[in-house]
Amino acid sequence: MKLSSNDSCPCGSQKKYKKCCKIFHDKIAFPKTALELMKSRFSAFATSNCDYIISTTHQLNPDFTTDLKSWKNDILDFSKNTIFERLEILDFIDDEIESFVTFKATLFQGKNDISFIEKSRFLKTQGVWKYIDGEFLKEGEK
Ligand SMILES: [Zn+2]
Repeated sequence: MKLSSNDSCPCGSQKKYKKCCKIFHDKIAFPKTALELMKSRFSAFATSNCDYIISTTHQLNPDFTTDLKSWKNDILDFSKNTIFERLEILDFIDDEIESFVTFKATLFQGKNDISFIEKSRFLKTQGVWKYIDGEFLKEGEK
């Protein structure tokens, strides 16, 4: 998805992209909370920003690989073939170094609804939040 600075941000904040996740994507600031990071990663997927996804993924994440070329291709493949319809935050457990965000991502690939609910786990290392892993939940779970 091509997005201009004045478009509304894909993360659902109802702010303009330039006043929201773009600040993080452009590395002007780091997300202060795991929630901000989670939203900015959703926006990065929506805008096919594979570099941002990679730079905010913890080294212990199962997808982490030093084969950047194939990793980037996987992200771009997913991003380009997916419509990022909506992000809803269901729960946020905030703490010093380990935080959890439960969200529902409404996504489509063609006519297929591939929406899911995930409880994501984030770790703060050297002052920076990174995504480490997540588990899929059913509707109504937390
Ligand atoms: Zn945003």
